[in-house]
Amino acid sequence: MGILDGKRILVAGVTMDTSIGFAVARVAQEQGATVLVSNFGRALGITRRIVGRLPQTAPVIELDVTDPEHLEALPGRVREHVDGLDGVVHSIAYGNPETLLGGKFLDGPWPDVAQAVQVSAYSLKSLSTACLPLMGDGGSVVGLTFDASVAWPAYDWMGVAKAGLESCARYLARDLGPLGVRVNLVSAGPLKTLAAKAIPGFEDLESMWSGRSPLGWDETDTVPAAKSVVALLSDFFPATTGEIVHVDGGYHAMGA
Ligand code: NAP
Repeated sequence: MGILDGKRILVAGVTMDTSIGFAVARVAQEQGATVLVSNFGRALGITRRIVGRLPQTAPVIELDVTDPEHLEALPGRVREHVDGLDGVVHSIAYGNPETLLGGKFLDGPWPDVAQAVQVSAYSLKSLSTACLPLMGDGGSVVGLTFDASVAWPAYDWMGVAKAGLESCARYLARDLGPLGVRVNLVSAGPLKTLAAKAIPGFEDLESMWSGRSPLGWDETDTVPAAKSVVALLSDFFPATTGEIVHVDGGYHAMGA
């Protein structure tokens, strides 16, 4: 018996086996779910190979969250594999590391900021509404954030995009709650993924995180974040929506 027995889950944003989305897909399968994954563009080929490392190979759907045609086609593409969805995982972010991150805050150009906000924040709304025809009462949307209540070194405009994502999750929770769909975020500590490696200076955050977290922190272990996402996808949080669950070793609760 698993906590996702019989559930159909789409995990959007799997590139490598280091991706948080990959760990979510694996834990979800271990907990009994049928999993579909999506990714976009040039990395699709990598994703198709990487899903072979899951307990069961998962279908891979092409989805650029900024492409209206992909979003419109998504329900049909999902229905080629399953007849609906019980959960959707948004594990997607992008900000140009050369112009927006690593100390570039005061110079970040608007077109790049707009792209970061569209891919990393607005897309939670786009993905959720694209999947709505597939979801019903008891559905769950879960996204990934990096605590946007404070300013961090290096994170710069991605921090602003994450603040947008966190607000977007609350408004989605408001509007999808009456349909029986929950919307929550997991706020993970720093993890050594492709996205994190692209942020100049992010490794300084990683190195000090374990020292300050009461539970300690392993930046190579995506499983704690994945387990929490899976818990939020399950029926064990039936009355929780608009929430941000910190999965950061307790870092956020410490003053120093
Ligand atoms: P990741 O493996 O690089 O995953 C990010 C994913 O977003 C990639 O699969 C990427 O595809 C995809 N993506 C980018 N633009 C897209 C678009 N337009 N349409 C569809 N997919 C797109 O890195 P990750 O760290 O696991 O990131 C997953 C989520 O966790 C992100 O929201 C991230 O901000 C969040 N998070 C990460 C950390 C951390 O320290 N790593 C901490 C807290 C929260 P490509 O590879 O093809 O670009």
